[in-house]
Amino acid sequence: MANEENDCWSRVKGRLRSTVGEDVFSSWFARMDLESISDDAAHMSVPTRFLKSWIQAHYADRVLSCWQAERPTLQRIDLTVRTPMRPAAAVNKDAKTADDLRSDRNVGKAINGLRINGTATPAADSSDALGSSPLDPRLTFDTFVVGRSNTLAHAAAKQVAEGRRGEPVMFNPLYVHAGVGLGKTHLLQAVTFAGNAGGQRKVLYLTAEKFMYGFVQALKNQTALAFKETLRGIDVLVIDDLQFLQGKSTQAEFCHTLNALIDSGRQVVIAADRPPSDLESLDDRVRSRLAGGLVVEMGSLGEELRLEILKSRVATVRTHHAGFDVPLPVLEYLARSITHNGRDLEGAINRLLAHNTLSGHAVTLEMAEREVRDLIRPQEPKRVKIEDIQRVVARQYNVSRSDLLSSRRTANVVRPRQVAMYLSKTLTLRSLPEIGRRFGGRDHTTVLHAVRKIEALVNKDTTLAEEVELLKRLLQD
Ligand code: ADP
Ligand code: MG
Repeated sequence: MANEENDCWSRVKGRLRSTVGEDVFSSWFARMDLESISDDAAHMSVPTRFLKSWIQAHYADRVLSCWQAERPTLQRIDLTVRTPMRPAAAVNKDAKTADDLRSDRNVGKAINGLRINGTATPAADSSDALGSSPLDPRLTFDTFVVGRSNTLAHAAAKQVAEGRRGEPVMFNPLYVHAGVGLGKTHLLQAVTFAGNAGGQRKVLYLTAEKFMYGFVQALKNQTALAFKETLRGIDVLVIDDLQFLQGKSTQAEFCHTLNALIDSGRQVVIAADRPPSDLESLDDRVRSRLAGGLVVEMGSLGEELRLEILKSRVATVRTHHAGFDVPLPVLEYLARSITHNGRDLEGAINRLLAHNTLSGHAVTLEMAEREVRDLIRPQEPKRVKIEDIQRVVARQYNVSRSDLLSSRRTANVVRPRQVAMYLSKTLTLRSLPEIGRRFGGRDHTTVLHAVRKIEALVNKDTTLAEEVELLKRLLQD
């Protein structure tokens, strides 16, 4: 594609990002690619049919106007579904997030069509809006490695999976949150497999995308009632990646379903990349209902846990490729250097396997260093929470956290409050309205004012600049 077209496409994406906001953009548009531009239309593609219909239904006009701002002659946009790179990946596409697809592509490239996964289950008929999202049979309790960061989440999930129909449920909903690649999907699918195993209970696993898709389809076909009935007819509802749930009517539906299930003693299990209080697009009632069960965070995988995961991956691969062997020093090297997430650990093993199978060379430390170089990233900055910011700022300025949230306007609390708001904006991904809400229900303009004020002050007041730097350091190590 011509450079000029590429530049234009970047600008269109930039416009789109600023009109819809970062969260929406990354949920729906991060995977949209430009295919070509013709006289009157921009042709773009997305990886799933779901994304295509969602974008067409909700964002077509906005996408078009972003294009028209760059190319006034364009009359329409045209969206197609990209054909997947390899058939095995297509099977699971509905259940995958952007990150999954990205790493699939890497693996796809590295292995040139070698089949590593082996045993993917066929997806439920995708015309069946009420069917479960596809499951990956490798993601079971047997292959889930327990370590310090996930002991509690694992125990709670086990408990849920072992419950029996009619027995009172202990934690409802069970809400697990963690960053990307830390095992949420693995744990949820394990619950689904184990829960369905006896044939006694009906456990339904849905990604939030699939939930919305099912609901939208049902509305279109006027079977919304049947959709609700199906959802309410199950024993355990498992929803993955709840942060992607969007749209007023689907949220209302989700809220009803949640209430109906919980009130009738059925179990709900949810995973998301943030705690309920940070799910900005959900309304307060849903948030508090979610927070009312057991909320567990899974922390980052420690080195020991990473090593165990690697060993378990190698063992699984060896069931298909008996000749594949990774010496312990190589595994230790990988566990030490790939600190980021579980997906990269899996990617690393896949690459070693590909290299080993294609070249016939045994796996050595030297080869491993070469193959996984790009997976070794500098440490991700720590996730900073607004509560931590408030706590640290309050301590530093010797005021209480409730002073920061209060409406008091005396100088000794106004400045710390502004600093805390400024840090919340710069160190977290939270929006201005969300920050306002977390500071005693203030308006977003108040937050904006505070951010601007501190920005201006740190440029001329070196003491303040140093204070702010110190606070940042305290919060980030
Ligand atoms: P998330 O859904 O949190 O983004 P996944 O569940 O998809 O993460 O995990 C990413 C990869 O890391 C998967 O291959 C998964 O099997 C592996 N993984 C993560 N945590 C564990 C664990 N505790 N034990 C075994 N494998 C794990
Ligand atoms: Mg996941």
